[in-house]
Amino acid sequence: MTSALLEKGVLDAGLEDREAVRKLSGLFERDFLDLAQEADAVRKRLHPNDIVTYIVDRNINYTNVCWVACSFCAFYRTKRQAQKGDGYVLGVEQVLQKIQETVDLGGTGVLMQGGLHPDLGMEYITQLFRAIRKEFPEVQVHALSPAEIWHYADKGGLSLDETLVELKKAGLQSIPGGGAEILTDETRGRIAPAKNTTEAWLEVMETWHSLGMKSTATMMFGIDETYEERIEHLLQIRNLQARTGGFTAFIDWTFQPDNTTYLKKHPDFKKASSLDYLKTTAISRIVLDNVANIQASWVTQPMKTASMALHAGCNDMGSIMIEENVVKKAGASYHTSEEELRSVIERSGFRPAKRTTLYDRVLEPGVSVEDI
Ligand code: SF4
Repeated sequence: MTSALLEKGVLDAGLEDREAVRKLSGLFERDFLDLAQEADAVRKRLHPNDIVTYIVDRNINYTNVCWVACSFCAFYRTKRQAQKGDGYVLGVEQVLQKIQETVDLGGTGVLMQGGLHPDLGMEYITQLFRAIRKEFPEVQVHALSPAEIWHYADKGGLSLDETLVELKKAGLQSIPGGGAEILTDETRGRIAPAKNTTEAWLEVMETWHSLGMKSTATMMFGIDETYEERIEHLLQIRNLQARTGGFTAFIDWTFQPDNTTYLKKHPDFKKASSLDYLKTTAISRIVLDNVANIQASWVTQPMKTASMALHAGCNDMGSIMIEENVVKKAGASYHTSEEELRSVIERSGFRPAKRTTLYDRVLEPGVSVEDI
Protein backbone atom coordinates (compact mmCIF):
# COMPACT_ATOMS: atom_id res chain seq x y z
CA MET A 1 0.00 0.00 0.00
CA THR A 2 1.19 3.52 -0.69
CA SER A 3 0.21 5.79 2.13
CA ALA A 4 0.82 9.44 2.85
CA LEU A 5 0.65 8.67 6.56
CA LEU A 6 2.59 5.43 6.86
CA GLU A 7 6.03 4.21 5.97
CA LYS A 8 6.13 1.47 3.36
CA GLY A 9 5.68 -2.02 4.77
CA VAL A 10 4.60 -1.01 8.27
CA LEU A 11 1.12 -2.51 7.79
CA ASP A 12 2.53 -5.87 6.82
CA ALA A 13 5.16 -6.01 9.55
CA GLY A 14 2.94 -8.14 11.79
CA LEU A 15 1.95 -8.09 15.42
CA GLU A 16 5.31 -9.29 16.71
CA ASP A 17 6.98 -6.15 15.37
CA ARG A 18 6.31 -3.86 18.34
CA GLU A 19 7.92 -0.92 16.58
CA ALA A 20 5.39 -1.24 13.73
CA VAL A 21 2.50 -1.49 16.23
CA ARG A 22 3.81 1.61 18.00
CA LYS A 23 4.09 3.49 14.69
CA LEU A 24 0.56 2.52 13.71
CA SER A 25 -0.84 3.59 17.05
CA GLY A 26 0.74 6.97 16.33
CA LEU A 27 -2.04 7.41 13.75
CA PHE A 28 -4.38 8.26 16.63
CA GLU A 29 -2.32 11.40 17.23
CA ARG A 30 -2.84 12.56 13.64
CA ASP A 31 -5.29 15.21 12.57
CA PHE A 32 -8.74 13.78 11.80
CA LEU A 33 -8.92 15.43 8.37
CA ASP A 34 -5.63 13.79 7.30
CA LEU A 35 -6.92 10.41 8.44
CA ALA A 36 -10.29 10.93 6.74
CA GLN A 37 -8.64 11.91 3.47
CA GLU A 38 -6.45 8.82 3.50
CA ALA A 39 -9.34 6.54 4.49
CA ASP A 40 -11.54 8.07 1.79
CA ALA A 41 -8.84 7.30 -0.78
CA VAL A 42 -8.86 3.63 0.30
CA ARG A 43 -12.68 3.58 0.07
CA LYS A 44 -12.61 5.12 -3.42
CA ARG A 45 -10.05 2.56 -4.55
CA LEU A 46 -12.26 -0.31 -3.37
CA HIS A 47 -15.63 1.30 -4.22
CA PRO A 48 -15.12 3.75 -7.08
CA ASN A 49 -18.83 4.17 -7.83
CA ASP A 50 -19.76 6.25 -4.73
CA ILE A 51 -22.48 3.80 -3.73
CA VAL A 52 -23.27 3.37 -0.05
CA THR A 53 -25.08 0.17 0.79
CA TYR A 54 -27.45 -0.79 3.59
CA ILE A 55 -29.58 -3.79 4.54
CA VAL A 56 -33.12 -4.23 5.80
CA ASP A 57 -33.01 -6.97 8.41
CA ARG A 58 -33.92 -7.73 11.95
CA ASN A 59 -31.93 -8.48 15.08
CA ILE A 60 -33.45 -11.38 16.92
CA ASN A 61 -31.97 -12.01 20.35
CA TYR A 62 -33.32 -15.49 20.98
CA THR A 63 -32.49 -15.51 24.70
CA ASN A 64 -31.19 -13.00 27.23
CA VAL A 65 -30.11 -15.68 29.70
CA CYS A 66 -26.32 -15.95 29.93
CA TRP A 67 -23.76 -17.29 32.39
CA VAL A 68 -20.77 -15.28 31.12
CA ALA A 69 -21.58 -11.97 32.88
CA CYS A 70 -19.45 -9.61 30.77
CA SER A 71 -18.99 -6.37 32.68
CA PHE A 72 -19.87 -4.26 29.62
CA CYS A 73 -23.17 -6.03 28.89
CA ALA A 74 -26.51 -4.60 30.02
CA PHE A 75 -28.51 -7.18 28.11
CA TYR A 76 -27.97 -10.48 29.90
CA ARG A 77 -29.87 -11.98 32.83
CA THR A 78 -28.54 -14.80 35.01
CA LYS A 79 -30.38 -18.09 35.28
CA ARG A 80 -31.46 -17.09 38.79
CA GLN A 81 -32.90 -13.79 37.51
CA ALA A 82 -34.60 -15.76 34.74
CA GLN A 83 -36.21 -18.05 37.30
CA LYS A 84 -37.68 -14.94 38.92
CA GLY A 85 -39.29 -14.02 35.59
CA ASP A 86 -36.72 -11.64 34.09
CA GLY A 87 -35.39 -13.96 31.40
CA TYR A 88 -36.75 -15.35 28.15
CA VAL A 89 -36.09 -17.93 25.46
CA LEU A 90 -37.88 -17.53 22.13
CA GLY A 91 -39.58 -20.58 20.70
CA VAL A 92 -39.54 -21.57 17.03
CA GLU A 93 -42.97 -20.08 16.35
CA GLN A 94 -42.04 -16.74 17.92
CA VAL A 95 -38.90 -16.53 15.80
CA LEU A 96 -40.78 -17.45 12.61
CA GLN A 97 -43.37 -14.77 13.38
CA LYS A 98 -40.63 -12.14 13.73
CA ILE A 99 -39.11 -13.24 10.42
CA GLN A 100 -42.49 -13.05 8.70
CA GLU A 101 -42.81 -9.44 9.90
CA THR A 102 -39.29 -8.76 8.59
CA VAL A 103 -40.10 -10.19 5.17
CA ASP A 104 -43.34 -8.17 5.07
CA LEU A 105 -41.23 -5.02 5.58
CA GLY A 106 -38.90 -5.94 2.70
CA GLY A 107 -36.23 -7.56 4.87
CA THR A 108 -33.77 -10.00 3.32
CA GLY A 109 -31.94 -11.31 6.36
CA VAL A 110 -31.95 -11.98 10.03
CA LEU A 111 -29.17 -11.45 12.57
CA MET A 112 -29.62 -13.85 15.47
CA GLN A 113 -27.53 -13.69 18.60
CA GLY A 114 -28.27 -14.62 22.18
CA GLY A 115 -26.83 -15.22 25.60
CA LEU A 116 -25.01 -18.43 26.50
CA HIS A 117 -27.98 -20.10 28.17
CA PRO A 118 -26.80 -22.96 30.41
CA ASP A 119 -29.71 -25.15 29.29
CA LEU A 120 -29.73 -24.49 25.53
CA GLY A 121 -27.75 -26.82 23.28
CA MET A 122 -27.34 -27.92 19.69
CA GLU A 123 -30.82 -29.36 19.49
CA TYR A 124 -32.47 -26.00 20.19
CA ILE A 125 -30.34 -23.98 17.79
CA THR A 126 -30.27 -26.46 14.88
CA GLN A 127 -34.03 -26.94 15.13
CA LEU A 128 -34.44 -23.18 14.93
CA PHE A 129 -32.19 -22.83 11.87
CA ARG A 130 -33.87 -25.75 10.07
CA ALA A 131 -37.31 -24.22 10.66
CA ILE A 132 -36.17 -20.83 9.33
CA ARG A 133 -34.58 -22.32 6.20
CA LYS A 134 -37.71 -24.38 5.53
CA GLU A 135 -40.20 -21.52 5.99
CA PHE A 136 -38.07 -18.71 4.57
CA PRO A 137 -35.50 -20.18 2.17
CA GLU A 138 -34.81 -16.72 0.71
CA VAL A 139 -33.91 -15.14 4.07
CA GLN A 140 -30.20 -15.16 4.89
CA VAL A 141 -29.33 -16.46 8.35
CA HIS A 142 -26.47 -14.49 9.88
CA ALA A 143 -26.10 -15.82 13.40
CA LEU A 144 -24.04 -16.87 16.43
CA SER A 145 -20.95 -15.04 17.58
CA PRO A 146 -17.85 -17.18 18.33
CA ALA A 147 -18.66 -17.32 22.07
CA GLU A 148 -22.07 -18.87 21.27
CA ILE A 149 -20.46 -21.34 18.89
CA TRP A 150 -18.02 -22.51 21.57
CA HIS A 151 -20.98 -22.81 23.95
CA TYR A 152 -22.90 -25.06 21.53
CA ALA A 153 -19.75 -27.11 20.89
CA ASP A 154 -19.36 -27.67 24.65
CA LYS A 155 -23.03 -28.51 25.15
CA GLY A 156 -22.96 -30.96 22.24
CA GLY A 157 -19.62 -32.54 23.18
CA LEU A 158 -18.41 -31.75 19.65
CA SER A 159 -15.19 -30.37 18.24
CA LEU A 160 -15.25 -26.89 16.74
CA ASP A 161 -15.15 -28.32 13.19
CA GLU A 162 -18.00 -30.72 13.90
CA THR A 163 -20.09 -27.97 15.45
CA LEU A 164 -19.63 -25.61 12.54
CA VAL A 165 -20.39 -28.35 10.00
CA GLU A 166 -23.61 -29.22 11.90
CA LEU A 167 -24.65 -25.57 12.11
CA LYS A 168 -23.94 -25.08 8.41
CA LYS A 169 -26.02 -28.16 7.56
CA ALA A 170 -28.87 -26.80 9.68
CA GLY A 171 -28.87 -23.54 7.69
CA LEU A 172 -26.35 -21.13 9.19
CA GLN A 173 -25.03 -19.00 6.32
CA SER A 174 -22.73 -16.45 7.88
CA ILE A 175 -21.36 -15.52 11.29
CA PRO A 176 -21.44 -12.04 12.83
CA GLY A 177 -18.18 -10.88 14.34
CA GLY A 178 -19.80 -10.10 17.68
CA GLY A 179 -18.00 -10.69 20.94
CA ALA A 180 -14.65 -9.55 19.55
CA GLU A 181 -14.65 -6.47 21.78
CA ILE A 182 -10.89 -5.85 21.90
CA LEU A 183 -8.86 -8.80 20.66
CA THR A 184 -6.15 -8.72 23.30
CA ASP A 185 -6.25 -11.08 26.25
CA GLU A 186 -5.34 -8.27 28.60
CA THR A 187 -8.51 -6.29 27.89
CA ARG A 188 -10.65 -9.41 27.52
CA GLY A 189 -9.44 -10.63 30.92
CA ARG A 190 -10.27 -7.24 32.44
CA ILE A 191 -13.77 -6.76 30.99
CA ALA A 192 -15.01 -10.31 30.40
CA PRO A 193 -12.81 -12.89 32.17
CA ALA A 194 -15.22 -15.79 31.55
CA LYS A 195 -15.49 -15.16 27.82
CA ASN A 196 -13.43 -16.84 25.12
CA THR A 197 -9.85 -15.77 24.44
CA THR A 198 -8.56 -13.84 21.44
CA GLU A 199 -7.22 -17.09 20.00
CA ALA A 200 -10.58 -18.85 20.43
CA TRP A 201 -12.42 -16.00 18.67
CA LEU A 202 -9.97 -16.13 15.75
CA GLU A 203 -10.11 -19.94 15.62
CA VAL A 204 -13.87 -19.93 15.07
CA MET A 205 -13.51 -17.44 12.24
CA GLU A 206 -10.62 -19.26 10.57
CA THR A 207 -12.36 -22.63 10.79
CA TRP A 208 -15.63 -21.19 9.43
CA HIS A 209 -13.78 -19.54 6.56
CA SER A 210 -12.03 -22.84 5.82
CA LEU A 211 -15.49 -24.29 5.13
CA GLY A 212 -15.85 -21.71 2.37
CA MET A 213 -18.15 -19.53 4.49
CA LYS A 214 -18.19 -15.79 5.25
CA SER A 215 -18.36 -13.72 8.41
CA THR A 216 -18.02 -10.15 9.56
CA ALA A 217 -15.52 -8.72 12.05
CA THR A 218 -16.21 -6.15 14.73
CA MET A 219 -14.49 -4.06 17.38
CA MET A 220 -16.11 -2.52 20.45
CA PHE A 221 -13.73 0.10 21.77
CA GLY A 222 -13.59 2.93 24.28
CA ILE A 223 -13.41 0.71 27.37
CA ASP A 224 -10.09 1.93 28.75
CA GLU A 225 -7.97 -0.04 26.29
CA THR A 226 -4.83 1.52 24.80
CA TYR A 227 -4.44 2.72 21.22
CA GLU A 228 -1.85 -0.02 20.74
CA GLU A 229 -4.49 -2.58 21.67
CA ARG A 230 -6.87 -1.17 19.05
CA ILE A 231 -4.08 -1.53 16.50
CA GLU A 232 -3.35 -5.10 17.65
CA HIS A 233 -7.04 -5.88 17.18
CA LEU A 234 -7.04 -4.48 13.65
CA LEU A 235 -3.85 -6.36 12.77
CA GLN A 236 -5.35 -9.64 14.03
CA ILE A 237 -8.26 -9.11 11.60
CA ARG A 238 -5.96 -8.02 8.79
CA ASN A 239 -3.67 -11.03 9.21
CA LEU A 240 -6.54 -13.53 9.30
CA GLN A 241 -8.13 -11.90 6.27
CA ALA A 242 -4.82 -12.23 4.41
CA ARG A 243 -4.95 -16.00 5.06
CA THR A 244 -8.66 -16.68 4.41
CA GLY A 245 -10.35 -13.74 2.66
CA GLY A 246 -13.49 -14.69 4.61
CA PHE A 247 -14.44 -11.35 6.19
CA THR A 248 -17.07 -9.45 4.22
CA ALA A 249 -17.05 -6.37 6.44
CA PHE A 250 -15.70 -4.67 9.53
CA ILE A 251 -17.88 -2.79 11.98
CA ASP A 252 -16.58 -0.77 14.92
CA TRP A 253 -18.59 0.94 17.61
CA THR A 254 -18.10 2.60 20.97
CA PHE A 255 -18.85 0.93 24.29
CA GLN A 256 -22.24 2.05 25.67
CA PRO A 257 -21.89 2.06 29.46
CA ASP A 258 -25.40 2.69 30.87
CA ASN A 259 -26.75 -0.05 33.14
CA THR A 260 -23.51 -2.07 33.02
CA THR A 261 -21.45 -3.38 35.92
CA TYR A 262 -18.44 -1.75 34.24
CA LEU A 263 -19.95 1.69 34.90
CA LYS A 264 -20.84 0.72 38.48
CA LYS A 265 -17.21 -0.25 39.07
CA HIS A 266 -15.87 2.83 37.23
CA PRO A 267 -18.32 5.63 38.07
CA ASP A 268 -16.01 8.29 36.56
CA PHE A 269 -15.85 6.48 33.21
CA LYS A 270 -16.21 8.75 30.16
CA LYS A 271 -17.65 7.46 26.90
CA ALA A 272 -15.53 7.67 23.75
CA SER A 273 -16.26 10.88 21.83
CA SER A 274 -17.66 11.08 18.31
CA LEU A 275 -14.26 12.35 17.17
CA ASP A 276 -12.60 9.26 18.67
CA TYR A 277 -15.17 7.12 16.85
CA LEU A 278 -14.49 8.86 13.53
CA LYS A 279 -10.71 8.68 13.88
CA THR A 280 -10.82 5.00 14.88
CA THR A 281 -13.09 4.23 11.94
CA ALA A 282 -10.80 6.05 9.50
CA ILE A 283 -7.77 4.18 10.89
CA SER A 284 -9.70 0.91 10.54
CA ARG A 285 -10.28 1.65 6.85
CA ILE A 286 -6.59 2.40 6.36
CA VAL A 287 -5.32 -0.70 8.21
CA LEU A 288 -7.98 -3.07 6.88
CA ASP A 289 -7.46 -2.32 3.22
CA ASN A 290 -7.95 -6.05 2.52
CA VAL A 291 -11.53 -6.06 3.91
CA ALA A 292 -14.00 -4.82 1.31
CA ASN A 293 -16.61 -3.09 3.42
CA ILE A 294 -16.52 -0.84 6.47
CA GLN A 295 -19.83 -0.09 8.15
CA ALA A 296 -20.78 3.20 9.79
CA SER A 297 -22.43 2.80 13.18
CA TRP A 298 -25.54 4.95 13.47
CA VAL A 299 -26.85 2.70 16.28
CA THR A 300 -24.30 3.96 18.81
CA GLN A 301 -23.61 7.36 17.22
CA PRO A 302 -25.83 10.24 16.14
CA MET A 303 -26.82 10.01 12.47
CA LYS A 304 -24.76 13.10 11.60
CA THR A 305 -21.64 11.31 12.92
CA ALA A 306 -22.47 8.23 10.83
CA SER A 307 -22.91 10.57 7.86
CA MET A 308 -19.43 12.01 8.47
CA ALA A 309 -18.08 8.45 8.68
CA LEU A 310 -19.04 8.04 5.02
CA HIS A 311 -16.34 10.64 4.30
CA ALA A 312 -13.89 8.85 6.59
CA GLY A 313 -13.76 5.48 4.86
CA CYS A 314 -17.18 3.86 5.35
CA ASN A 315 -19.13 2.54 2.36
CA ASP A 316 -22.02 0.91 4.21
CA MET A 317 -24.67 2.20 6.59
CA GLY A 318 -25.47 -1.15 8.17
CA SER A 319 -28.98 -2.19 8.91
CA ILE A 320 -32.36 -0.52 9.20
CA MET A 321 -32.60 -2.91 12.15
CA ILE A 322 -36.28 -3.49 12.64
CA GLU A 323 -35.52 -4.66 16.17
CA GLU A 324 -32.47 -4.06 18.33
CA ASN A 325 -32.30 -5.01 22.00
CA VAL A 326 -28.69 -5.14 23.09
CA VAL A 327 -27.32 -1.60 22.89
CA LYS A 328 -30.78 -0.20 23.71
CA LYS A 329 -30.37 -1.73 27.19
CA ALA A 330 -27.01 0.06 27.46
CA GLY A 331 -28.47 3.48 26.73
CA ALA A 332 -28.03 3.87 22.95
CA SER A 333 -31.37 4.48 21.29
CA TYR A 334 -30.95 5.97 17.83
CA HIS A 335 -33.62 4.91 15.34
CA THR A 336 -34.13 5.25 11.61
CA SER A 337 -36.31 4.14 8.72
CA GLU A 338 -35.29 3.01 5.26
CA GLU A 339 -36.47 6.33 3.84
CA GLU A 340 -34.41 8.33 6.34
CA LEU A 341 -31.32 6.19 5.82
CA ARG A 342 -31.51 6.62 2.03
CA SER A 343 -31.99 10.33 2.48
CA VAL A 344 -28.97 10.61 4.81
CA ILE A 345 -26.84 8.71 2.28
CA GLU A 346 -27.97 11.01 -0.55
CA ARG A 347 -27.46 14.18 1.49
CA SER A 348 -23.95 12.91 2.27
CA GLY A 349 -23.23 12.85 -1.47
CA PHE A 350 -23.60 9.11 -2.19
CA ARG A 351 -26.06 6.82 -3.96
CA PRO A 352 -27.96 4.46 -1.63
CA ALA A 353 -28.30 0.80 -2.55
CA LYS A 354 -29.89 -2.10 -0.75
CA ARG A 355 -27.77 -5.19 -0.14
CA THR A 356 -28.09 -8.62 1.43
CA THR A 357 -26.22 -9.99 4.45
CA LEU A 358 -23.56 -11.39 2.12
CA TYR A 359 -23.17 -8.00 0.42
CA ASP A 360 -24.89 -9.01 -2.80
CA ARG A 361 -26.85 -6.13 -4.23
CA VAL A 362 -30.64 -6.23 -4.24
CA LEU A 363 -31.86 -5.21 -7.68
CA GLU A 364 -34.20 -2.23 -7.41
CA PRO A 365 -35.38 0.59 -9.70
CA GLY A 366 -32.56 2.90 -10.76
CA VAL A 367 -29.79 0.34 -10.21
CA SER A 368 -27.90 -0.64 -13.32
CA VAL A 369 -25.93 -3.85 -13.79
CA GLU A 370 -22.73 -1.76 -14.02
CA ASP A 371 -23.35 -0.57 -10.47
CA ILE A 372 -23.26 -4.09 -9.09
S1 SF4 B 1 -21.99 -9.93 25.90
FE1 SF4 B 1 -22.86 -11.91 25.30
S2 SF4 B 1 -21.60 -13.40 26.39
FE2 SF4 B 1 -21.31 -11.43 27.46
S3 SF4 B 1 -22.86 -11.36 29.07
FE3 SF4 B 1 -23.75 -10.33 27.29
S4 SF4 B 1 -24.90 -11.93 26.28
FE4 SF4 B 1 -23.46 -12.97 27.65
